[in-house]
Amino acid sequence: MSAMFHDPAIYEQPRSVCALCGSGRIARLYEIRRYTPPFRVDRCDACGFIFMNPRFTETVVHGFYGEDYYRGSAEYAYYDEREAERFALHVWKARLRVIARYANGGNFLDVGAAFGGLIKAASALYDVYGIEPSDYSGREARKTFGDRVHIGTLDDHPFKSGFFSAITMIEVIEHLADPARALRECHRLLRDGGVLVVQTANMAGIQSRLRGERYAYFMPGHLSYFTRRNLTDLLLKSGFARVVAHIPVEFGLLPKLLKSRSSFKSAWDYRRWIRIAWYHLISKLHLGDFALTSSMVLYAVKRTK
Ligand SMILES: [Zn+2]
Repeated sequence: MSAMFHDPAIYEQPRSVCALCGSGRIARLYEIRRYTPPFRVDRCDACGFIFMNPRFTETVVHGFYGEDYYRGSAEYAYYDEREAERFALHVWKARLRVIARYANGGNFLDVGAAFGGLIKAASALYDVYGIEPSDYSGREARKTFGDRVHIGTLDDHPFKSGFFSAITMIEVIEHLADPARALRECHRLLRDGGVLVVQTANMAGIQSRLRGERYAYFMPGHLSYFTRRNLTDLLLKSGFARVVAHIPVEFGLLPKLLKSRSSFKSAWDYRRWIRIAWYHLISKLHLGDFALTSSMVLYAVKRTK
């Protein structure tokens, strides 16, 4: 069985050093077998960083993000923003109101822009740009934004340092093999006083710990799993002067409830609001790295001279 995880056609060589803190104290955490091909995640004893190990090769990862990924036919699919856009707008607008408190106006970059929904909402306040690795959704976004949407990654974009006043990475960093490099690049791209918004799961949350290997965040496209503490440390190490954690998210309950209606099929579905409201409420109970649920959004500010 273990030979399978070294198949060079699917898996890279396993890593023996933590990509976040450089520690060699790496231990097996889980084998996730509900997906084909299965994968393993390891945990760094020193900083708590969890990562897929060995990783899938880039060719395999690339295959995860085709049209199926957005259509919902893939097992680990992301919802199709174009259909859900009207509802998601409630969340985007609420988020943009908070971002504007940090950076009001200027150039705005969404990393992982998908179909361009967030930058469309942001275009009322900012000159907007996007980076999107998927050809399929990136081409759609370019129909509206032209070459302001770069199809590619933070490694090969055309943007200049200090160009942006706000950068968002919403549910993106968990997909990256080298998150430290991505955060350093975001820091370089921001002007002084600019803000980076990072949303991902807090693996220190009781929710993910209780679910163990069944936790839904363990999926083949996710390579890097953080805690509030080690992600905060990484942002500071990347050059950011100040990090503010918003738990569970930076906006209130109402936008979440309004957004949730996108999946409703009848009035009976409004009963889901009880669960969503309960989740939102218990998510507010947290102290340091301890939290009941796994939601977090970190705002990192580049130093103002
Ligand atoms: Zn580590």
